[in-house]
Amino acid sequence: MATTKDDTGTVLLCSECFVDEGLRIDAYKHGLDKEGECPKCRSPNGRKLTKDQVEALAWRFFVSGTTVRGHYGGAPIIQFNEHHYGKGDISPSPWLKEDIKLIEDAARIGFFNYGPRLWMVGEVEPLKNLEDPAKRSQVIARVLNEYPERTLAKDSAFYRLRIAPGRPANPGEYDSPPTELAGKGRLDSVGFPVLYGSQDIDICIHECRATAEDEIFVATLKTERDMRLLDLTNVLKEDVTEFESLDMAIHMLFLARAHSYEISRAIALSARAAGFDGVIYPSFFSLIRTGGRPFETAYGLSLRRFHRQSEEYGRAFTIPNFALFGRPLENLSVRMHCINRVILTQIGYQGHFGPVAY
Ligand SMILES: [Zn+2]
Repeated sequence: MATTKDDTGTVLLCSECFVDEGLRIDAYKHGLDKEGECPKCRSPNGRKLTKDQVEALAWRFFVSGTTVRGHYGGAPIIQFNEHHYGKGDISPSPWLKEDIKLIEDAARIGFFNYGPRLWMVGEVEPLKNLEDPAKRSQVIARVLNEYPERTLAKDSAFYRLRIAPGRPANPGEYDSPPTELAGKGRLDSVGFPVLYGSQDIDICIHECRATAEDEIFVATLKTERDMRLLDLTNVLKEDVTEFESLDMAIHMLFLARAHSYEISRAIALSARAAGFDGVIYPSFFSLIRTGGRPFETAYGLSLRRFHRQSEEYGRAFTIPNFALFGRPLENLSVRMHCINRVILTQIGYQGHFGPVAY
């Protein structure tokens, strides 16, 4: 049923309407601070929710709150839309039953068990071909050809963080690890060290899994010449489905855990062979840092690809990291600008709630 524009400002529910503690807290956090009784539960104390806010609450709690990660990708267990109004089919915990009915009636939506479209859990052809050693090089050739080159201009600054270096004041501590220690990270291989850096200090701290207990130092480094980088954070313009999308394959690759490193290392080695000085790649922590959500979809279509401003959308939720090949301080392509000690005084977590059973 279509709603008219006039309905959107009407208060429908409030945070006091809910039994579930997670829903109540989330509704309070995002609700409107408005005088008067709730039209539903008659309490004057809750924060008020309009239709838009009810839908946003439903999305956070039931869709984002049930999203599970796979080997690659991830998908929600529950979805909702207006076509399922009155036909919801989920099996929630007993204390959620009334809350769900309130939300469904207020927003005129229904919750249902979502059979994810398979691309969302990694059924993406270029990704499967990257996993297959026999087909990997063909896809990597496409990556080198289709992703753009970016220049990190001479004198650009970036950061490199170290936890408990042996001699914190020694510039050599901030180069890539010695060649004999290379081969443990996302892009370095045995005999092929890589210097990981970023222009976002907070991302460096996350990437190093730093905690308040650690002795942390950050070097500000500057490039001595223009550096040629392969930009893997670029959103590719493609005329194919998600199942065939190289863009989706690379996006998922850099959000996956260590089982994917064999592939990203092969890409780095090929980029070096093609004459690049390094790659720009999306941080694994992009989504946490920017508040984005993995593989966000509307009706099973990827927003990354179908959003009207897909490029800005992809960029807004992607924090670029650099990986510079070899040992750039030793090779004098990068110079030390300064070193600082980092003192963490607060480590913050933000989040929301989801159901425990469906
Ligand atoms: Zn209420």
